[in-house]
Amino acid sequence: MLDRADNSFVLPPEIDRRRTFAIISHPDAGKTTLTEKFLLYGGAIQMAGQVRAKGEARRTRSDFMQMEKDRGISVSASAMSFEFKDFWFNLVDTPGHSDFSEDTYRTLTAVDAAVMVIDGAKGVESQTRKLFEVCRLRDMPILTFCNKMDRESRETFDIIDEIQENLAIDVCPASWPIGVGREFLGCYDLLNDRLELMDRSDRNVIAESVEINGLDDPKLAEHVPANLLEKFLEEVEMARELLPEFDHQAFLDGTLTPIWFGSAINSFGVQELMEGIGKFGPKPQVCPSDVRPISPDESKVSGFVFKVQANMDPKHRDRIAFVRLCAGHFKRGMKLTHVRSKKIMAIASPMLFLASDRELAEEAWAGDIIGIPNHGQLRIGDALTEGEMLRFAGIPSFAPELLQSVRATDPMKAKHLDKALTQFAEEGAAKLFKPMIGAGWIVGVVGALQFEVLASRIELEYGIPVRFEQTQFTSARWLTGPKENVDKFIDGNKGHMATDHDGDPVYMTRLQWDIDRVERDFPELNLTDIKTVM
Ligand code: GDP
Repeated sequence: MLDRADNSFVLPPEIDRRRTFAIISHPDAGKTTLTEKFLLYGGAIQMAGQVRAKGEARRTRSDFMQMEKDRGISVSASAMSFEFKDFWFNLVDTPGHSDFSEDTYRTLTAVDAAVMVIDGAKGVESQTRKLFEVCRLRDMPILTFCNKMDRESRETFDIIDEIQENLAIDVCPASWPIGVGREFLGCYDLLNDRLELMDRSDRNVIAESVEINGLDDPKLAEHVPANLLEKFLEEVEMARELLPEFDHQAFLDGTLTPIWFGSAINSFGVQELMEGIGKFGPKPQVCPSDVRPISPDESKVSGFVFKVQANMDPKHRDRIAFVRLCAGHFKRGMKLTHVRSKKIMAIASPMLFLASDRELAEEAWAGDIIGIPNHGQLRIGDALTEGEMLRFAGIPSFAPELLQSVRATDPMKAKHLDKALTQFAEEGAAKLFKPMIGAGWIVGVVGALQFEVLASRIELEYGIPVRFEQTQFTSARWLTGPKENVDKFIDGNKGHMATDHDGDPVYMTRLQWDIDRVERDFPELNLTDIKTVM
């Protein structure tokens, strides 16, 4: 998307009502619970409990894999679409665990906004901060939901101050909590002058809403006990003096975030947040490409792959490429050009992910996320267009921070291991390096847990038990420069060289000193730890 969000352009109504966003949070802040409630209000499911299997906490329909069930973490991102009032929401799920950050970074290239969920007792935690920084790189608009207000939480001003100071963003309260912990009564909706009261008896019930005519309305006292009311009125007065007012443009610029207080598990405050997403947007944004910015209202369809997921259904070897549509009105059966291979693909069974199920997408619009089943043709960063040879910009690939060699414990299965590894590399689950000297593979990941995930998936999905082992290398850098110099360097350093999954040369070492030396001695060459996948 472009550097700055823009809501001023006029779009066809179907595109105009689309809201494509992700939730960023630290594990345990309540992302899964909030997602369930979104779906509940989106009418996608009858009862939030249908998403979360009974007795098995932290599992949603978006968690497909065995590994996830075992560990209770969401390994791969997926997309969910649902309607809410006049809006069509596309929620792209981001894995919360820090080991999967690269996947998350890519996911964030496919959305126009993010909802930041924080725990009212814990405030801004490390993973939230990291993800926030990624959003900040792109000046992405952020809406904040302060969760778990039904528990003992921090003072409202402390929470807001912490966000402002820690994340250097202005915070504007969209609602204000009344009472904390056991005494938490609900919130005053500052944007709509409504009192929202929380119902503790039924967690799936929408809160009672009382229309109030401003803060001096005597009706407030009928619902709020005197001691709480006094504190609340004082705080709001202070807030109005000290905190910025809501400024739509500042929100779109990513310099101000509106904050709602609530309790996802009690379905409280969620609806107001969703109304905020609908009302303030942003609507689908312009996507940058190497040819020109692609506006969502262009008549020709185009989009890019931001994620590939294998074996969502373990019975099939298919992969699903998740595509963010950047422009146009897509219809099932359309023939699109796969720009990298210059081949035409007929998109016969595109999928929409409607929370409880996948469905064939008869049509989709700019802003939507569709899944395209394929046998490996579609890779992360690939563009699909109606013929134009363009590439979308900005999907990064990061150098792995950990390297290990891998081998099948049964040598007879070594050949099949190649296939499994190639697949995971295409999916973006790991980096795969083929050393120029010697046999075997070196696998690179961002976090140690990923080795375990991979080993478990290779065994589960391919029936190949494997062992990961230390290698003599700890760092990998992509090598670029004039071809002649690159070739000459490779010739002289074969023992340090490998190729990545795309065949690009990679320099490997265990010493930072080596990297510094190459940079000093070969000024015409570049060693980089980020490769932008095109
Ligand atoms: P995630 O790791 O961010 O996806 O967090 P979950 O949605 O799985 O929530 C983590 C834990 O916090 C679970 O035990 C939830 O039941 C609990 N939780 C979520 N929302 C609330 C809330 O509003 N109030 C309270 N008290 N607990 C909550």
